[in-house]
Amino acid sequence: MWDEQADIVVVGLGGGVIGTAKAAQMGSSVIAVEKMPQVGGATWHAGALMVFGAKKVPRAAGSPPFNLEEAVRKAVEQSGYTVNEALTRATIIKCGEMVDWLADIGVEWTTNPFGTVYSPAFKQDPDHRGHAALRGAINAAYEFMNKKGGKTILNTKVVALVMDKGRIVGVKAIRSPENTTIFIKANKAVILSAGGFSHNKNMLKKYVPTAYKGVGSVSMALPSDTGECIRMGQGAGADMSGYDSFSGFDGGIDFSEVNGPWFRFLTSGDIQLARGAWLHLNKACERFMDISSSPLQFFSRPAAIMAQPGNRAYVIFDNNYEENIWKLKPMGSKEPITPDLPLMKDWFDPKLASADWKVRVKEAIDMGAIKSSDTLEGLAVNMGLDPARFKAAVEKWNGYCKAGADPEFGTLPQHLIPVRDPPFYGTKIGCSMGSTSCGLRVNPNMQVLDLNQNIIPGLYATFFTAGGGAGEVSFAPPAVWCAGGSMTTAYMAGEHAAKQNG
Ligand SMILES: Cc1cc2nc3c(=O)[nH]c(=O)nc-3n(C[C@H](O)[C@H](O)[C@H](O)COP(=O)(O)OP(=O)(O)OC[C@H]3O[C@@H](n4cnc5c(N)ncnc54)[C@H](O)[C@@H]3O)c2cc1C
Repeated sequence: MWDEQADIVVVGLGGGVIGTAKAAQMGSSVIAVEKMPQVGGATWHAGALMVFGAKKVPRAAGSPPFNLEEAVRKAVEQSGYTVNEALTRATIIKCGEMVDWLADIGVEWTTNPFGTVYSPAFKQDPDHRGHAALRGAINAAYEFMNKKGGKTILNTKVVALVMDKGRIVGVKAIRSPENTTIFIKANKAVILSAGGFSHNKNMLKKYVPTAYKGVGSVSMALPSDTGECIRMGQGAGADMSGYDSFSGFDGGIDFSEVNGPWFRFLTSGDIQLARGAWLHLNKACERFMDISSSPLQFFSRPAAIMAQPGNRAYVIFDNNYEENIWKLKPMGSKEPITPDLPLMKDWFDPKLASADWKVRVKEAIDMGAIKSSDTLEGLAVNMGLDPARFKAAVEKWNGYCKAGADPEFGTLPQHLIPVRDPPFYGTKIGCSMGSTSCGLRVNPNMQVLDLNQNIIPGLYATFFTAGGGAGEVSFAPPAVWCAGGSMTTAYMAGEHAAKQNG
């Protein structure tokens, strides 16, 4: 029956690369199965990772020494006491170990000012517009795994787990483009590191209903995030955790009304434009927060947007946006991408976004996702807003811009940009989803648990395929614990699985 066999079969080669390499180093034979034609997943595009307690990484200037108890306490508190403390503790401990282990296999780490670290093998520009530094670490781990005899099968989608007497003993997969079925035996374990389910709306509706309602489009989880591996785990009897948990940015243009895309990569010009600190209104044409520059608002904006009537906000700007966008520089990752950026060739992926931000803006205008009109009343009608209320709100805002002060929300003076010259533009936004944080319930070794909280022998899951790493009913800004969570938990699963008897 079996076409291939190894001690450990890893499904999904994003953060999963780390677990594959670790298990191979420990002497296990490994086969990694990836449905896409290339290695890396979303992890390959990430810019930096959050690190706890690594010894071989320079600490950010002025940052306090690592304190495990404090790190665990903070994580538990921030989750509203909904994370599993033992799992959180294990992950925090292993994060530093994983980063040090990568240093041992040749990854040179640098600390950035936020206290997160990145591999300088692919440098970022100082504004964090380049989202590719972690590919240095992924590439190094992948090369290491190959040297240790690990095998990769690309273009091959795992479609089922094979179970024998209550134990997971392998996977069934379909190869593309031949459409042939193969069975791969796993003598020790199958590790599911296949991401979450941001692109599966049925699963979103059931398990992350706030995202189902509040997300306008997805900007980080790649379209490969379709959740089938979570469904397979459930089929094997697994419990779920991380109900209604996900992460996201602001500026998630809602393309649904124009039958536009559900996935619009973060660096796309239209998304970056919509993330600017322009006038934001809700359905009642009321402003609802300071859309200005502090990091707090950068983080809380998506939640505030989703809390508005209809779970949407409206972003309004005028014909001078191409010039004014450069005045809105709240955080680097919101800046438009231009072809002349330094390091462009190192980190930019033209398959995901245009190198000229204006191209995607024009596309969104042509699609009707960014609406325009020569009059304010006309724009209101095009966006389904009340024209009189809309006009009054814009005029009030323009008055604040003229006075250089916003008595309602204290917008920074440099962000008080009037909506003055036609044509006027507006776009309806929800949250721009990073990833789901809901999936198979695991113990601190990343072993999947069944509904009675017993281990399902032979089955592991990592951060986004597992759930609960971010707690229950948890909304978090992305890029806090995303790539770090995925890489660390893959390391944990690989290490633990390698110690099992085959
Ligand atoms: C532009 C960008 C910037 C980012 N910046 C940061 C950052 O600075 N810091 C940070 O922490 N995070 C960042 N992130 C987020 C972070 O990269 C991801 O959340 C995380 O890396 C996801 O890891 P993963 O291993 O779960 O998923 P992935 O890396 O996507 O890997 C999952 C893999 O599984 C494969 N797969 C799925 N189903 C199957 C199947 N049935 N059979 C076979 N293979 C399958 C997929 O094709 C994919 O390759 C960023 C993401 C993007 C896109």
